[in-house]
Amino acid sequence: MTTHRQAMAAPDDMVRCPIMPTYGPPSVEFVRGEGSWLWDLQGAQYLDLLSGLAVTSLGHAHPEVAAAVAAQASTLLHVSNLFGTEHQAPVATTLDRLLGGGGQVFFCNSGAEANEAAVKLARKWAGGPAGKYQVVSALGSFHGRTLATLHATGQPAKHEPFQPLPAGFRHVAWNDVDALDAALDGSVAAVLLEAVQGEGGVNPASAEYFQAVRALCTERDVLFMVDEVQTGLGRCGSWFAHQQLGVRPDVVTMAKALGNGVPVGACWADASVAAAFEPGDHATTYGGQPLATAAARAVLTVMEREDVPARAAAAGARFRAGLSPLPGVAGVRGMGLLLAVELAPEWLALRPAKVVADGLLAQGVVVNAVTPTALRLAPSLLISDAEVDEAVARIAAVLDQLAPAAPGEEPPA
Ligand SMILES: *Cc1c(COP(=O)(O)O)cnc(C)c1O
Repeated sequence: MTTHRQAMAAPDDMVRCPIMPTYGPPSVEFVRGEGSWLWDLQGAQYLDLLSGLAVTSLGHAHPEVAAAVAAQASTLLHVSNLFGTEHQAPVATTLDRLLGGGGQVFFCNSGAEANEAAVKLARKWAGGPAGKYQVVSALGSFHGRTLATLHATGQPAKHEPFQPLPAGFRHVAWNDVDALDAALDGSVAAVLLEAVQGEGGVNPASAEYFQAVRALCTERDVLFMVDEVQTGLGRCGSWFAHQQLGVRPDVVTMAKALGNGVPVGACWADASVAAAFEPGDHATTYGGQPLATAAARAVLTVMEREDVPARAAAAGARFRAGLSPLPGVAGVRGMGLLLAVELAPEWLALRPAKVVADGLLAQGVVVNAVTPTALRLAPSLLISDAEVDEAVARIAAVLDQLAPAAPGEEPPA
């Protein structure tokens, strides 16, 4: 553990290489992973509690996923969607079953693309430009970085540099039924919400809110679309987080965990809505291609066999029990294994969450500061009890090491 701090110097070639600075310079270069663990260039080992932002839900280098990807790579990588390929139907059938049946799937390559597909589907379903077309989403939401999904993202500061954004998006306060009620006029085609706002700070929707949204959407003939790109596929303790909130959406989008690191996304819609898409309406070259769907098929097989929703619920409860009483922790929120650790106010003046996250990285624990006051945990859904306990112990040690000094003392360096 002592080697992490010196290992954190970013490799020179990563700092100077010709990559656009859309992320800050990396502090660590990872070269290998296995289960919940990562190794950097210098051989230092890290406990990964972030999973590439909720992507590697089965842990790193899962043997069955790796074998499926390797076998597919040496069998058939691509032929285009003009032709059939082996894994699309089984993956779509499994996803539809996990979502309660009666729907159809469009395959794409990312979360933003899944939401783009949902927005286009809603507009086509609602009758095109002459009909209703607005999509209502929530303040604090995150739906992607393409121009349309950026506008759906309810964070106005992120919009400003990129105006004008595509028309047809409006935002309402989160978890506020009255605000949504007022926004649903005759121009609205769809409501797009996360079940737990992930990037916005791990803020769960209440069941009352989701059920009221469902009722309003049905009453006004508006689609209820749930963005499960981060929350879906077992992460929150059910196959999809909305299933714990007691609703059936019309459209569900997913991506992150579906390929365990191989880029693949999907937009599922109830068959009555999906029927709005006709041949030629929407497409993407790579969507559902053999490598991506081979990975997704293996991921879903392992997820069902291991019952990852139950594991996420149990490990999430173990994390909460371990973290909640720690000095420096004001509270733990979230669902299943999508958690935010809110730091105690007396800490934050001296130690914003980013400083704590950096301190954890230096001690071999990967998390991120999801807000200036909270750390996000999204570990592998297959994390063991011993690994949860190790994670809690390391977090406790770093919080202890960084604890603000008593009044009159020098703050720790
Ligand atoms: C990550 C995320 C997206 C965007 O997914 P990309 O694959 O980065 O395009 C969209 N919605 C939610 C809720 C996300 O967490």
